[in-house]
Amino acid sequence: MQPLTPASAQLSAKAVRSIKCTVERDGLDRETGGALFGFDDEAHIVVSEAGDPGPQAVRGRRFFMRDLAYTRTLAAEVYASTGAQWLGEWHLHPEGLNEPSLVDLRTYIGHLRDPELRFVRFLSAIVTWSARSPEVDISLWVLERQHQAFALSRLDWNVDE
Ligand SMILES: [Zn+2]
Repeated sequence: MQPLTPASAQLSAKAVRSIKCTVERDGLDRETGGALFGFDDEAHIVVSEAGDPGPQAVRGRRFFMRDLAYTRTLAAEVYASTGAQWLGEWHLHPEGLNEPSLVDLRTYIGHLRDPELRFVRFLSAIVTWSARSPEVDISLWVLERQHQAFALSRLDWNVDE
């Protein structure tokens, strides 16, 4: 079996803007996040849109309970209007680690194992910030099934203007 990890990834300027606006609106004290939508042809991932947390999301300093019903509705709307698929999610880590936590990975594995969601792999953008810079950082990760295990890889990305 070929590894699925794509060679490259792009985030649209619109998706990056949505992430930054949501973080600005919700603040840096508690986690916030949303879904990522776009196109994945196995060699290349393009994230065209980033969603917001939704009204039922629960936002803590170290946890973020996603509003799954909201995300599923949003995913259906985005797919109907642009053809973009639900690829994964982004969220803010207020305390700085730029990789998915064990709790995050458990959530992603649950999504990968849910046959109704039909994920082949799950994309994760972790947003961090530092007092030294006015801009937030976005680290992109992909979790995929390899044989009986799951492999997490970091993806380089650039902005698709
Ligand atoms: Zn997290």
